[in-house]
Amino acid sequence: MIAPHGGKLINRVASLLDRKKLLGEAKTMPRLVLDNEILKDFHNLAYGTYSPLTGFVTQKDFESVVRETKLASGLAWSIPITLDVTAKQAKGLKIGKKIALTDEKDTVQGILNLEEKYSFSKEEYMDKVFTVRNLDHPGVQMVHKMKPVLLGGPITLLYDDKPWFADYYMTPQETRERFQALKLSTVAGFQTRNAPHRGHEHIQKAALSEVDGVFIHPVIGEKKPGDFKDEVIIAAYQALIKNYYPKTRTVFSVWPVKMKYAGPREAVMHAIVRKNHGCTHHIVGRDHAGIGGYYGLYASQEIFDEVEDTGVHILRYNEVAYCYACEKTVFQKDCPHGQDKHYKISGTKLREFISLKKMPPQELCRPEVAEVLLSYDQPFV
Ligand SMILES: [Zn+2]
Repeated sequence: MIAPHGGKLINRVASLLDRKKLLGEAKTMPRLVLDNEILKDFHNLAYGTYSPLTGFVTQKDFESVVRETKLASGLAWSIPITLDVTAKQAKGLKIGKKIALTDEKDTVQGILNLEEKYSFSKEEYMDKVFTVRNLDHPGVQMVHKMKPVLLGGPITLLYDDKPWFADYYMTPQETRERFQALKLSTVAGFQTRNAPHRGHEHIQKAALSEVDGVFIHPVIGEKKPGDFKDEVIIAAYQALIKNYYPKTRTVFSVWPVKMKYAGPREAVMHAIVRKNHGCTHHIVGRDHAGIGGYYGLYASQEIFDEVEDTGVHILRYNEVAYCYACEKTVFQKDCPHGQDKHYKISGTKLREFISLKKMPPQELCRPEVAEVLLSYDQPFV
């Protein structure tokens, strides 16, 4: 089994005993409400999804990640995991003290040991991580809206209750155990925020020809309007796996996190997160985690030429088409037939068929998957 990033799987979930003690202490702590998306990162930190991080990053790590694509320790890292507050909120919080972190219903979910309060440059964050400042980029918009002070320090999660799609959510510890139980010594992680079309299937099957197992790991959380809803993506994948995948070589779980659409920088995060789940390999396709043409089509593959020490083997794949001459899905570069024989497969095309309530052709989407997608009145965000 591959070691987690930094060597040790972080676990910041309180024991039952500690939970009781901390809940008692929390009554007198200052409180801070986490919005639903930061709450997801809070869980990710607690479960070791972001190993070796034990909490929201301190200034040294923040600046090192933004500027150098690594933690202050030198370990590869590409997007800082932050907790932002207003200047007024920050003023009332004391360094070295504990803060009770609550959800939006004011229920205490965990504790932050406040180590640092610091300001940061939004412009530098945008320039280095997103490489653009255009506010129509949803990730840039996210940075633009961030509050001016960041809180850093280790966290503790009080409840081990998996608030998002618990039936499909496995922690890194649990996926590692599953891979081991299935005797998968090499596993390729697959990142997605979409319902599966034939192109995704082709790539996942190509990975299966190289490794023991594939780990399909869709992002669950705030997305851009027009993306498929989380429950639709989950149901579509269940149908695909049930009908077309080897059960003992396929593992499915969801990852609650907000997409940042940071292209290459996000691809590096995706690889590290899958490594923490036990993946030896990570699949990076065309325009991985990109949006609106901001990043080169293969920039998310090329960044791994510079950021080499993720410890994950990157499987780089190019565009897939359905070829009428070959009578199957193909990587375009692997087939001698031209564009006139190729049916172009794309998520945009699939969304168009579904939004018109039309059955997509089998070149684009498996009928079992299409039926699921068409069964929803409103399948889009
Ligand atoms: Zn062909």
